[in-house]
Amino acid sequence: MQIKTEGFVIKSIKYSEYDSIITIFTRKLGKVSAIAKGARRPKSAFKAGIQPFSYSEFIIFKGRSMHTVNQCDAIEIFYSLREDIFKLSYASYILELVGAVITEDQTNNSLFNLLGKTLYMLKRKNIEINTIVRTFELQFLEFSGLKPNINSCVECGNEEMITHKFSHREGGLLCEQCVGKDKCAVNVSKHTMRLANYLLNADMKKITKLKISQFLNEDLSKITKRYILEHTNVYKFKSLEILEGLVE
Ligand SMILES: [Zn+2]
Repeated sequence: MQIKTEGFVIKSIKYSEYDSIITIFTRKLGKVSAIAKGARRPKSAFKAGIQPFSYSEFIIFKGRSMHTVNQCDAIEIFYSLREDIFKLSYASYILELVGAVITEDQTNNSLFNLLGKTLYMLKRKNIEINTIVRTFELQFLEFSGLKPNINSCVECGNEEMITHKFSHREGGLLCEQCVGKDKCAVNVSKHTMRLANYLLNADMKKITKLKISQFLNEDLSKITKRYILEHTNVYKFKSLEILEGLVE
């Protein structure tokens, strides 16, 4: 059976001298691994469209044990993301997160659209990368069904909190009465939670120039990164390790 679908290439690995196996987040089939025969030949028509980040239109043949890419036309290869180490690392991180939660035969249009918008915004010039990445993380959690409770206490629903304690394990804020549920709950600023609420509902296209302070960025990033590690099957952020080495 042949299927025509758009998709983002999440991973591309060398399979043999001329072939590659690519992992694609497709609109119609969810996550798919497929062999792209001859893709590594110098004149292959597939070459551009099967690189990581590439957004392409694929014709995929669904075999019994292995899928095959029969055709691949690149729509956008996001070349500029490869030229900037910061953008490259964050774009790789974004693909890593998406790859960790999507599964075969499970479509997720909201996440698919979010990934597209995020990569298109990241490739622009004069953008606030931190704001885009923080917004992606929050909306990614929502569209993956993992959104933490950031408006009220996750245990009792209390909305009138004086102190803000965030429990990674319980999945959100804990009020003064419920904070005993998790001794590892961490302090988080109410301004950070307000920002999180704003970004969660923001249109990715409209926040690309919004500057957020270093404190708020770090406070929010600390919460979301640990939350993602605890609630997905990502155990470390391989893509961000190079970047952290550069910043230190
Ligand atoms: Zn409570």
